[in-house]
Amino acid sequence: MQLLKIISAALALMLFAGCSVTQVKSSSPMLFASNKAIAHRGAFKKNGFPENSIASLREAIRLGCTGSEFDVRMTADEVLVVNHDPHHAGMDIEKTTYAQLRTKPLSNGEELPTLEAYLKAGLQDNKSTRLVLEIKPSPAGNERGQLLAQRVWEQVRKSKAGTWVEYISFDYAILTKLLSLDPKVVTHYLNGDKSPADLQTAGVKGLDYNYKVYQQNPQWINDAKALGLILNVWTVNEPSQVEWCIRQGFDFITTNEPEYLLQLSR
Ligand code: MG
Repeated sequence: MQLLKIISAALALMLFAGCSVTQVKSSSPMLFASNKAIAHRGAFKKNGFPENSIASLREAIRLGCTGSEFDVRMTADEVLVVNHDPHHAGMDIEKTTYAQLRTKPLSNGEELPTLEAYLKAGLQDNKSTRLVLEIKPSPAGNERGQLLAQRVWEQVRKSKAGTWVEYISFDYAILTKLLSLDPKVVTHYLNGDKSPADLQTAGVKGLDYNYKVYQQNPQWINDAKALGLILNVWTVNEPSQVEWCIRQGFDFITTNEPEYLLQLSR
């Protein structure tokens, strides 16, 4: 019996030491990279790629970030596109068709990416980088936000990307809509105005709040850990702030400087 215990302990130790990836604190069956780096809008900055471009996503995957974040909006003809701002090349995305929007390429020559194309690029040769999909609140209001959440969920299913994707939003109703479609989806809330206990009750898996929110509510860090919630923070670029987040034991750090954070992890 004692020998069995020793052998199983040794096996567990070998497995732990040999893994460069780890099971995440979520219901996902995926084994993502064990570092904390979530590339904000992809790994765009160091190489001068456009934010939210496929080039920045592929760079985050090449670097081995544990996640690459991007923003999703919907055009007038209900095409899902990846863009941070509500406008693209001076055109209001929600009031313009995709055919019109695609006439203006990104600065590296890429077309404005559709969510379909982005997910396809994100699944290619990617075993360690989760796709952190932010659904932007719709400027047209709650009803269109709900439609946007529905369409995004349908596209993720169609693209067979469900196990790679974790959803984030400032719009709490968008997250609850996703959870009504599938209670197992991994969601993180961005807006900083709900306690860890409230999020856990709603089935939201994580907090992804601004750095300042945690400094104003430091008890939320331990509360989240005690409740088994995922702790993420945005958008942390200054070395002293990155180091503070590491010391506090955050699971993820969303940053424009993923190279710096990865260097600290090695
Ligand atoms: Mg974002």
